[in-house]
Amino acid sequence: MITDVVAGVDIGGTNTVYGLVDKKGKVISEGKLRTTDYPKIGNFVTALVEAINKLLSRKPGYRLAGVGIGAPNANYHKGTIELAPNLAWKGIVPLADLIRKKIDVPVVLTNDANAAAMGEMIFGGAKKMKNFIVLTLGTGLGSGIVINGQLVYGHTGFAGELGHTIIVPGGRDCGCGRQGCFETYASASGLVKTVLYLLSEMRDESILRRIPPEKLTSKMIADAAAKKDPVAVEAMEYTAEHLGFGIINAIVFSSPEAVFLFGGLANAGDMLFVPVRKYVEENVQPIFRGTVKILPSGIAESNAAVLGAAALIWNEQN
Ligand SMILES: [Zn+2]
Repeated sequence: MITDVVAGVDIGGTNTVYGLVDKKGKVISEGKLRTTDYPKIGNFVTALVEAINKLLSRKPGYRLAGVGIGAPNANYHKGTIELAPNLAWKGIVPLADLIRKKIDVPVVLTNDANAAAMGEMIFGGAKKMKNFIVLTLGTGLGSGIVINGQLVYGHTGFAGELGHTIIVPGGRDCGCGRQGCFETYASASGLVKTVLYLLSEMRDESILRRIPPEKLTSKMIADAAAKKDPVAVEAMEYTAEHLGFGIINAIVFSSPEAVFLFGGLANAGDMLFVPVRKYVEENVQPIFRGTVKILPSGIAESNAAVLGAAALIWNEQN
């Protein structure tokens, strides 16, 4: 018997991870390429297709049904990666077409946060939901928005950039060239920025003062907050309020059943979720009170990127 599998591929600035995923969300085998080893897109595509074929050749009985890809600045409508600042490939890269020339299967491409939302819908905590939002809280803040059972891609294919909605006019500088974007406050790196600011403002003793600024991570801060370090506690509170503020804006826009928090900062667990839920309940417009669950992702972080990318194809086959 031949079983269909999908290749899920997550292209990051440093590494590309890929795996074969069956319809139930089981990762059958996986591998990794260093994205930076392929400054030319043609060489990258050749290496990726060879790597996928190699996985398939080791697993007789499986047939490739498609390739789903999560990548920065990916355009779902066109199958392109466009002007991605963290990748060596400049301009507009027709990735889906380049791959289809080598393997004749459907190829679907979107950004990693949209892929995470699709993973949540097909394999994770949003299985029965038609309206939800996934926020990925890593170096930046990515978002995937599902409305009426469909991911929102928008006119350009780049919809759902909640990380670049401005929540503090004239606030922190953002990588996008503007100031006060949501992601500069509510992300793993936003939390670090908050701690650096508070260390200069607060006189309290803090174990975080002993860590060189460039070595500070959101995990260290969460650990310090768990031990009631005053600067870390204040930083978590400040971050939770800003995250809550951005979530409220998203709630009044699309009335989701749930907002899933994923990655880096979300690993702080209750220290983040408890104050965020409280802030949202107290400050959201009354008609939305008690209507939105704020939840951790239902997908294990280790598999999430590959599962999300694979879900793009499984979703279109259902
Ligand atoms: Zn921005």
